[in-house]
Amino acid sequence: MPTTSLPGLAKLARRPISRDSISGVSKLPIRARVATTLGGAAGRMSRLTGRGDGSVIGGVVGLRVAPDLLTQLAVGRQVVLVTGTNGKTTTTRLVAAAIGSMGQDVASNAFGANMESGLVAALSGALEAPFAVLEVDERHLPKIMEATRPRVVVLLNLSRDQMDRAAEIWLVARRWREAFAAMPEVHVVANADDPLVAWAAGSVKSVSWVAAGQRWHEDSWCCPECGSHLRRDELGWRCGECGLSRPPARWVLDGAAVIDAFGAVRELGLALPGRANMSNAVMALAVASFFGADVDQALPHLRSVTSVAGRYTTVPRRGRNLRLLLAKNPAGWLEAFDVLGQDGRPVMLAVNAQGPDGRDTSWLWDVDYRVLRGRPVLVAGERRIDLAVRLEVDQVRFGLVDGVDEAVDRVPPGDLDVIANYTAFQQIRATLGRTA
Ligand SMILES: [Zn+2]
Repeated sequence: MPTTSLPGLAKLARRPISRDSISGVSKLPIRARVATTLGGAAGRMSRLTGRGDGSVIGGVVGLRVAPDLLTQLAVGRQVVLVTGTNGKTTTTRLVAAAIGSMGQDVASNAFGANMESGLVAALSGALEAPFAVLEVDERHLPKIMEATRPRVVVLLNLSRDQMDRAAEIWLVARRWREAFAAMPEVHVVANADDPLVAWAAGSVKSVSWVAAGQRWHEDSWCCPECGSHLRRDELGWRCGECGLSRPPARWVLDGAAVIDAFGAVRELGLALPGRANMSNAVMALAVASFFGADVDQALPHLRSVTSVAGRYTTVPRRGRNLRLLLAKNPAGWLEAFDVLGQDGRPVMLAVNAQGPDGRDTSWLWDVDYRVLRGRPVLVAGERRIDLAVRLEVDQVRFGLVDGVDEAVDRVPPGDLDVIANYTAFQQIRATLGRTA
């Protein structure tokens, strides 16, 4: 990281620059223009020196020079913010694809760099794009809303991420609710089946409610409004005490089809696997439709998305085809199990407990592994013993392996699904020589 040159960059930033000297960014105030250019240079330097893909460092440098750079870069665009515990990166990609079907350029942080510096890098990389579709960390939504004045906010779901963050999701929902109260003009696209999400968006005037489903109920047994027990039936959820209930949805995921706001039914036919991605696609269609996109035109663009930031990619390795699935928390593991091949193919599970994973692995006990019975299971990762104990209790037979290559050697030629949490996923990708 070129920190030594920062004072020099800042000095340069204060020098007046001729309006024509930087093409394409003339709308921006001078300071923001310089910050953007310097950020781009730092990003290129970072890529050239092999210290990352440059998307974050460029934003960091830009923000040092112009702290309000995110606001400057967002002005005049239609901004969509996508947040929630699971599915942010994939949904961001799908929303960008759906809006792109209208022939418009879209700026997007496609690789999941979802803090302020990542957003700055995404926007400064596409200065002329009239649309911006940005993944936002769920805890930072209020701050990023304030900075970017979004036209649409997409709320996917809220569940515990790692054990040490479990208590936070109620607080996150409350902060979302407060942020919407302060910005009544924003349109929200929200999952009606997630009680915390529905409560957070409950006072928003303009909402596209989506029946996107909720497989994971463990974090929403209680009413977000009054704390009483929530009841669930085929119509959804409701509180017997205060009357809070699932809002009626205009967009519905029905099996593998989408029912749009006008009642038209279409098969989704996605290349991405699993029910969670079908939900994400319906959310994306609801967003694009808000901007006037045609569902028939948008669908082929969604179908053409085959992998997202290395996830769902199939990688050949010594005669086996490895399919890589990232799952970071209990709800994510449940979704990943849903994606596993129905042919009883082997699966490798890998768990680490480094910083980004959460140090505490007790969340492993929240997941039901019985679905893995009868399938060859291999267990890897720095915390494979924790996972092994858990599988033992669920009577799932497994073998311990040291890494992805040993797993490859232990299974017959053919398909192997790999489910890993965050740093384990990155390690596996590095072993397989995947960098993008
Ligand atoms: Zn209630």
